[in-house]
Amino acid sequence: MFFTNGCPMCGGQQSQGTTTLTVDKGSLLVVVRNVPAMVCDQCGEAWIMDSTAEDLEGIVSEAAAKSSQVKVIDMAA
Ligand SMILES: [Zn+2]
Repeated sequence: MFFTNGCPMCGGQQSQGTTTLTVDKGSLLVVVRNVPAMVCDQCGEAWIMDSTAEDLEGIVSEAAAKSSQVKVIDMAA
């Protein structure tokens, strides 16, 4: 477990789950579904791990190079 102190927002319990992220790159809007994250059971706030954030950065830059307008990516796929 990466977070053992509970949710920084509300102090609630966090558990492994997924979230949907939207990244606005200006000319391109990237929507990434099923991003692995720690999700707060209480407020629903999602926290992404550093390793996941790095993966996302690569995925988003690749999408930005190939697409325009809107790109939807499913990390579970
Ligand atoms: Zn919370």
